[in-house]
Amino acid sequence: MSSHVSRNGNRPLRVMKFGGTSVGDAPRIRKVVEIIRDAARESDLVVVVSALSGVTNKLIEAATQSEAGNRDSVEMIFEELRERHRVAVRGLIQSVPVRSRIQQEIDEVFQEGERLCQGTALLRELTLRARDSISSLGERLSAPLVAAALRECGTASQSIDATELIQTDSCHGAADPCMDATRERCQERLLPLLKTGVVPVVTGFIGATAEGVLTTLGRGGSDYSATILGAALGAEEVIIWTDVDGLMTADPRLVEGARTIPEISYREAAELAHFGAKVLHPKTLRAVTQCGIPLWIRNSFAPERPGTRITPGGPATDGGVKGLTAIQDVTLITVGGPGIVGVPDVLSRTFAATAAVRSNVLMISQSSAQNDICLIVPSGSAKPTVEALRREFAQDLVHEKVEHITFDPAAAIVTVVGKNMRSSGIAGRTFGALGREQVNIVAIAQGSSDCNISFVIAEKDMTSALVSLHREFQLGATARALPPGSSRVSPASWYYDSERPVANGD
Ligand code: ADP
Ligand code: ASP
Ligand code: MG
Repeated sequence: MSSHVSRNGNRPLRVMKFGGTSVGDAPRIRKVVEIIRDAARESDLVVVVSALSGVTNKLIEAATQSEAGNRDSVEMIFEELRERHRVAVRGLIQSVPVRSRIQQEIDEVFQEGERLCQGTALLRELTLRARDSISSLGERLSAPLVAAALRECGTASQSIDATELIQTDSCHGAADPCMDATRERCQERLLPLLKTGVVPVVTGFIGATAEGVLTTLGRGGSDYSATILGAALGAEEVIIWTDVDGLMTADPRLVEGARTIPEISYREAAELAHFGAKVLHPKTLRAVTQCGIPLWIRNSFAPERPGTRITPGGPATDGGVKGLTAIQDVTLITVGGPGIVGVPDVLSRTFAATAAVRSNVLMISQSSAQNDICLIVPSGSAKPTVEALRREFAQDLVHEKVEHITFDPAAAIVTVVGKNMRSSGIAGRTFGALGREQVNIVAIAQGSSDCNISFVIAEKDMTSALVSLHREFQLGATARALPPGSSRVSPASWYYDSERPVANGD
């Protein structure tokens, strides 16, 4: 189904993306090199890499500190990052001249980062453009490092900046590719390398506008980079290498006993990703929807395990619930009161107000009995959204046509994903299980898609809801909550302005 591209004889082409933990340090990168070398025996490869784990967070912190004028903190962050990369270079490259060449390349990227931060500190303004440039540095450091590590082990490799390949619109922080231009650039730039047996190592996460201005695809966007390149090159497969065994029935950090899903459809995987399964960037599947390229999620720490295969239609015989997911750090905003019935265009005005502040409404629910409209937005955009709504309905509030606009930041969205969710009593079982667990449901959204049921609950109930549903639908062997305090997604690590909150551990 993939568009035909003339390549190396009959060798298949695979795009392989390695996430932050997979390239976290020299020993991890050596493991990645092994995976690439094994795969390169039978197929042509394009490699996409994320920044070393945690680096993008640090860079964004440096950008924010620069805006606040805290030069010392910025310097400390850069020193720490420099040292981390220096250690990785030392651990990977033996030859002194090669080491100093790669070190120089890395130093130049750091110098550029420091200049960007100095400019930001001087102006006390962090533009979206500067934020993208600063946060992109991690990938611009990791790609040369991984390419050098490959060469060190005898595999011809070249690092390539995705600004040369992925042309995007100018939506900084959440850019989308212009596929025609991207296809042309990828084929022109990458195919000659593949023909000569070179493995290109491409920076994930970033692209550039037609004018050459650097953009980023959003936090966790390297997954999307991989499918964009896969689609542009007509690859046979895209493999996302990460730190878990595949797409699982629930976030394994929250539900013990979560199981790897062997095969799942694009639609279901996209729903899981959209509603919080961090293992896949929510836009990842968009790029391959047209061409139907199979996508794999595999564990770089255990490459012998098969992982999850994501295909256009999923396995031939299946149905029912496949997995659960949750997004915390969302805010429930309620526009309501008895008078709302009489307010004309209340829905369109609500959405015009949220759109004006570019708030990403994750879910809506309307209650006719209570005359309430509930919106769920990422907590980061709750304040401007509430303010915009209060401005829009100021007159109606005065005349008590709209009684209140309130918000509750301690909310979470839980989503049950599968096939034929409207039938077979799945909703009944979902809410029955939650009732037994005494989890109160604040709002429900079902019906727009046959692939999910989403509902809002108090954030404190999120884990017990996931665990009881995991048990109800027999998704794993022994589902139970992980002990409190064991790794939990930190709200502080949600991103600033991407399309929806993405729990980040880059
Ligand atoms: P990478 O750095 O490789 O991009 P991420 O941290 O972005 O990896 O994504 C992998 C993490 O996603 C896993 O460690 C896991 O905790 C989390 N996760 C959340 N939901 C799921 C799920 N349904 N299946 C697998 N992993 C999940
Ligand atoms: N390094 C980027 C991030 O942390 C992109 C990615 O890891 O996919 O968001
Ligand atoms: Mg990721």
